[in-house]
Amino acid sequence: TKVLLTGGSGFIAAHILDQLLAKGHSVVATVRTEEKASKIRESYPSQTASGDLIVGIVPDIAQPDAFDEVVKTPGLEVVLHTASPFHFKWTDPHKELIAPAVVGTTSILRAIARDAPTVRRVVVTSSFAAIIDEAHVSDPSTTFTEASWNPVTLDDVHRSPATAYRASKTLAERAAWDFVRDPKNETKFDLVTINPPMVFGPVVHYLSSLNSINTSNERVVDCLKGKWKDEIPSTGPAVIWVDVRDLAAAHIKAGLEKPEVGGKRLFVTAGLFSNAELARIVRRRFPEYAERLPTEETKGGELPVEGERFGFNNSETNRLLGLEYRSFEECVVDLVKNLKALGA
Ligand code: NDP
Repeated sequence: TKVLLTGGSGFIAAHILDQLLAKGHSVVATVRTEEKASKIRESYPSQTASGDLIVGIVPDIAQPDAFDEVVKTPGLEVVLHTASPFHFKWTDPHKELIAPAVVGTTSILRAIARDAPTVRRVVVTSSFAAIIDEAHVSDPSTTFTEASWNPVTLDDVHRSPATAYRASKTLAERAAWDFVRDPKNETKFDLVTINPPMVFGPVVHYLSSLNSINTSNERVVDCLKGKWKDEIPSTGPAVIWVDVRDLAAAHIKAGLEKPEVGGKRLFVTAGLFSNAELARIVRRRFPEYAERLPTEETKGGELPVEGERFGFNNSETNRLLGLEYRSFEECVVDLVKNLKALGA
């Protein structure tokens, strides 16, 4: 199958690319710079030579014509749109966060509808950020499912950087469903969104330094660097997670292997986690870090008790995808081994 993968240099996309090529698919990946493109080509010399991997440059997905050329690649069947800003290094959230998320999503859908008649399915990487409702994270009578929508609007963007990020994902996903439901757009493909919560796991993409680690893995680097020694930080409101390798497999199933999931939102999660549990696993499995780690007595980071946290139910997604989820321990151990090799 011939697949277009956007944001190919990203933490999650790199795993998707790796699994797609391992399964013998042919991939056109987009990245922002030639430097990133050549790193990816160098990692897959035989697929680059055979033409099964083409890496193209899309410098800024906030431009409405960003994807106009790449979607014209002949024979594309599936598009996996993962590119979207997930960092807090912006100063103007509207320009640097909301615009690339929303315009990036609508412009790729418009370009496909107009110029890529062979595409049968588009998978957009959305997020649990588009499901969660900040007002109900501590409410045990709330159960988040595939049908739940974050009620956030543009008016909430100023509240906090995390709220702004959640708004970018929510508005982008809404725009995607609105696009395919609008008969004027005459779309010949169907849409699937994947809505993962915190994603952890080993990195296979090129990192210039440990400081350029992706946002969701940052806390593990902080823990290894000794930043949690005196107090373990709060886990945050989204106390559920998934392993990046399982999430990559979910994208491939949703895009290429499960025709019946067209039109679905897939809420891919392995379940609860906490920073305190993360610290315990690192302490138990990597005694060489003992001096930098919190001890059994160090406070903080525990999961809120059942009566003080949201409920969730993703059984529909699990039934549709039939995924086996890795355990948190396996995920953390593989990530820490990987960070150790990178110099942590
Ligand atoms: P990364 O930051 O590693 O990946 C984001 C990708 O988007 C990168 O390839 C990045 O390019 C690209 N990108 C961002 N802004 C632009 C832009 N303006 N123009 C072109 N490309 C851009 O993060 P993840 O891999 O974690 O995120 C991938 C997707 O998964 C995102 O849609 C994110 O919202 C979603 N997600 C992530 C979760 C997580 O916990 N990691 C949880 C739920 C959803 P570059 O590398 O050049 O910066």
